Amino acid sequence: MVNQDMLGYGVAPSPIRKLFAYGAARKAEIGADKVFDFSIGNPSAPAPASVTEAIRDLAQQDPVYVHAYSQSAGHPDVRQTIAESLNRRWGTTYTYENLYLTYGASASISMVFKGLIEDGDTIATVAPYFTEYRVWATTHGAGFVEVPARATDFQIDVDAMDRMLDEHTKAVIINSPNNPVGTVYTRENLEAFAALLERKQETYGHPIFLISDEPYREISYGKEVPWVPALYANTIVCYSYSKALSLPGERIGWVLVPDTCAEWRTVFNAVSGAGRALGYICAPVLFQRVIQTCVDDSADVSQYRVNRDLLTGIMDRCGFEYIAPDGAFYLWVKALEPDAQKFSDQAKKHELLIVPGDGFGGKGWVRLSYCVDQGVIERSEPAFAALAADYA
Ligand code: PLP
Repeated sequence: MVNQDMLGYGVAPSPIRKLFAYGAARKAEIGADKVFDFSIGNPSAPAPASVTEAIRDLAQQDPVYVHAYSQSAGHPDVRQTIAESLNRRWGTTYTYENLYLTYGASASISMVFKGLIEDGDTIATVAPYFTEYRVWATTHGAGFVEVPARATDFQIDVDAMDRMLDEHTKAVIINSPNNPVGTVYTRENLEAFAALLERKQETYGHPIFLISDEPYREISYGKEVPWVPALYANTIVCYSYSKALSLPGERIGWVLVPDTCAEWRTVFNAVSGAGRALGYICAPVLFQRVIQTCVDDSADVSQYRVNRDLLTGIMDRCGFEYIAPDGAFYLWVKALEPDAQKFSDQAKKHELLIVPGDGFGGKGWVRLSYCVDQGVIERSEPAFAALAADYA
């Protein structure tokens, strides 16, 4: 009667959302200050004042101008403003024709997958990875290939990619700064990977696209986040204002198909067609206009660095092993037993909500989101100490 895959996704929400829902119920039961909710990546930094001012200003303008449909890809003048901002930043020559505005990175990635995937294709990624990549790739008919990150530092493992990418590879999706690990891929690492992809394209005689998923581009703790299209021509960028401007509920972002991409107009048209097929047309127009005004602004994300330092301090004192994050707002911590789900269940007994790594393709690890009020982190130390003591 219904599509069984979709039914499956509907009744079994992502482990993150499941834990987040549990947290909401638990906070109502025992009080919000007693639950240490590290489950979801909901930014705690407020949107900048310029966003509020832009909304206030737009609310005073002609409602038809503000609320009418835009083109499917978004208002050309808004797209041009974004293109010019990118050009100032990266020395590029993009125009509105390279950009399709969408409902955040989720829609961007899903559209790009649908626009690219043909029968027999695979999409590869670096594991651990954002859980929904698998859902979108397989829904649009691709095989999904998990290539483990380099064990020492969680950078892209170029040798493993060399072994695992083959003639079926249509695209590789990467995410830096990374969810769930917090790694920022170095220029050297990206250059080595780009060189491998060039060789692979040559060998297999077709383009291999590099999809750069960049919702955390603006959240880096002093590390360079290179502009990927400058390193590899067949790059498509999926960007979002969810974290950059702390607007996750407003659903606004974009796909960039640079004109360096092989047959870029064909690729852009296929991605646009995917937008049509999926109903991702005319991204929220009020927020298109907000972005036009605030295009060079960013939320004040400095608190995340404070949170990172506080949380890693707790981890050090309690004896947990973790990957020191250079960006995003996640901490990747080794579970104290092989089954991360059991470890997460044990943590719940101390009111600690931490997501098992299995869904991210990272068995034996858990993810902590530290985009929370500083007080949550400060109050959580006794709970982490008690959790560690359970395994002593
Ligand atoms: N990609 C990554 C790596 C993410 O962490 C997220 C959200 O947390 C997304 C994509 C989707 O972001 P949005 O749809 O809010 O832009």
